Amino acid sequence: MEFAYYVARGVNEKVSAIEVDSNPNDFIDRTKFRCMFCGIQLEFSHGTSYPLFKRWRGTAHMPHCIYGNITNQIKNSDNNKDIELLVSTILPRALMSPQQHISTGHQGSNVSKQFTGKRTRMFISSVKNLLDPKKGYYFSQNYESMQILAETGEKYYLKDLFGAQDEIIDKIDRSADKAIVCIVKGNTLTPKATIGDHVLIPLSTSGKHKNSQKFSLFIPKDYVPKNSGRLDDITGAFIVGYGIARKTDYGYQMTIFSIHHQVAVLKKYEKSNTGPAPVT
Ligand SMILES: [Zn+2]
Repeated sequence: MEFAYYVARGVNEKVSAIEVDSNPNDFIDRTKFRCMFCGIQLEFSHGTSYPLFKRWRGTAHMPHCIYGNITNQIKNSDNNKDIELLVSTILPRALMSPQQHISTGHQGSNVSKQFTGKRTRMFISSVKNLLDPKKGYYFSQNYESMQILAETGEKYYLKDLFGAQDEIIDKIDRSADKAIVCIVKGNTLTPKATIGDHVLIPLSTSGKHKNSQKFSLFIPKDYVPKNSGRLDDITGAFIVGYGIARKTDYGYQMTIFSIHHQVAVLKKYEKSNTGPAPVT
């Protein structure tokens, strides 16, 4: 499990396993981690490939615990490692105003943390592993009905978080906040610098693959320097991207703080003659 409550300081502090791993001295009493959904004691573990919270020895999640039910999905699966990672992921909430979204202040950096960790990288890699090339890179049928938990306690079918740009735009339009956490797939065109020094990477719009409407990956200007070395990797490529997608004054976009963590390449096409536009 990615998050737990730490109850040593008299309140339920929501902490991530990554936070505990990187600041061990802030969490001295290791008996004080609790399941956010049913309250049972959890144990912090460095894990074999990423830190996580596990059930305390000899305990089980309560019958009503949604997390307990979610993890039952691991049984009888061919891709245990990928499934295990996905079901132990707790999706962040998408709620955030467009102003905060572009903000370079505190709020912006908090949101960026949710999408720039090692775990995000593993999440998008696991998603990639479960897509079926024979189905046009949608989830294999076995995984379509798998559910993931959000920190609000809501459950989402994996297939409902995923789609080509027209499908994602439809989900954004139907959402109350006009913003959703999702996974988009599409073909990238040449990145463009925008007024304000942000970078937009438009997805192609042939209309043949549920991609008739405009949609872009958006790198806020503060994050452009760290990503500029990777722009080439995802130019002219068939990609999946994981993050918050929303409708802005400039169109439908998914914010990418880190290409390395949020974008996985399914196929790379021949480099175009024009090459990427210079980005400064
Ligand atoms: Zn529980």
